[in-house]
Amino acid sequence: MLVTADKKLASIGEGPAGRIQAELIGRGKETNEEVYSLTRVVISDCTDYNPEGMIQKLNAGIALLGGWERFVSPGMKVLLKVNLIGPKAPETAAITHPEFVRALVRILKGLGCQVWIGDSSGGAIAGVAPTARSFKVSGLEQMAREEGALIKNFDREGVVEVVPRSGLGGKMYIARPMFDADFVINLPKFKTHSAGVFTGAVKNLYGCIPGLRKAEYHRLAPDPRDFGAVLADIHQAVNVGLHIMDGVTAMQGEGPTAGTVYPAGKLLMSADPLALDTVAVAMLGLEIEDIPILHSARASGLGEASLQNIEIAGDYTVPPRLKGFKLPKRLRNIKPRTYRFVIKVIDFLKARPRVNLKACRHCNMCVESCPVQAIDRKTKAIDYGLCIECMCCHELCEHKAVELRRDNRFLDFLGRIRKRA
Ligand code: SF4
Ligand code: SF4
Repeated sequence: MLVTADKKLASIGEGPAGRIQAELIGRGKETNEEVYSLTRVVISDCTDYNPEGMIQKLNAGIALLGGWERFVSPGMKVLLKVNLIGPKAPETAAITHPEFVRALVRILKGLGCQVWIGDSSGGAIAGVAPTARSFKVSGLEQMAREEGALIKNFDREGVVEVVPRSGLGGKMYIARPMFDADFVINLPKFKTHSAGVFTGAVKNLYGCIPGLRKAEYHRLAPDPRDFGAVLADIHQAVNVGLHIMDGVTAMQGEGPTAGTVYPAGKLLMSADPLALDTVAVAMLGLEIEDIPILHSARASGLGEASLQNIEIAGDYTVPPRLKGFKLPKRLRNIKPRTYRFVIKVIDFLKARPRVNLKACRHCNMCVESCPVQAIDRKTKAIDYGLCIECMCCHELCEHKAVELRRDNRFLDFLGRIRKRA
């Protein structure tokens, strides 16, 4: 029996995954038996970046989501939205690995598609985001040249103005290639985040905001719940039909850039970004409520966040636990059920950024990227009265010179009173 797009939309919602599924069903090929669960998340074991091995794993995984022909067709311009947070080598596990991207480029070119690879890195020096340098340092530029893919530096491709559903910030400007492409595949990296606990498919689309405009949204939405709504705005504005997470090597500890490598050996695939992240955090023993931006993205209707409603396929039927994986320092040694309480408590006691002058190279990336200009250009002292604790300085420092320290804010508060007396 054919399922109409309208009927299906009524049951799957109007999010990005809903749109792609409606589009697939609208092609008129599907029967009830052939309509694949939107909330299916495929987990595949994959222990190295050998492109040929990855091609097999990716093809097998996508077959469980309905096959490549459900998503792309010959002649399409397919944009691979990578995670290129900054000029980092693939071995750091801070970026989407170029060999993983190479495997996808080969698959898509084999299907007759044109392939684009795009992102905008965080931060800026002298007003210029380091995206061009990031494409070089990561090896993505060279790989693209070798494989015949096009690099799309989102800082140089123009923007499309959209009106965010949340109303935050009035208008939003998103990199033009996200709209010019016929199909977009989101390729997040599996990483911890010192401020947000975890970063994956939902957060990765933040790189669609070019250059320093990113800092503006941190300023407008300092509360993680509002920031989650901003991310939902981006997902709802662009139409990303597929999300494939590079978890072959993951980043643990002080991610998204200053952590260490954890050999997770996993690829995760889904049409639903929130379902994918829900499964990824379950692999860490966490729930969506432990990750403030994901909790908020769920409230914005971004996708499925209840594990019992997510169908897991591939090499697992339940999310495999990543043994010994280190969470950000502030959450270590805490029993899982107490995370939510602890996250609330550390809103008061949480670590604050501080520049270690011995490690600092005075590049001023942190100074120029701070959304509220809280860092002194000369001394690198941080004005905590201005700081909104977005942790961009910690995230963007290429020299790991911005440390997170737990301060006793009560004593700090008393100190300020004494100073005024
Ligand atoms: S702390 Fe890092 S980003 Fe800031 S000026 Fe020093 S080296 Fe540059
Ligand atoms: S000092 Fe660092 S954490 Fe504070 S607002 Fe600036 S960039 Fe964000």
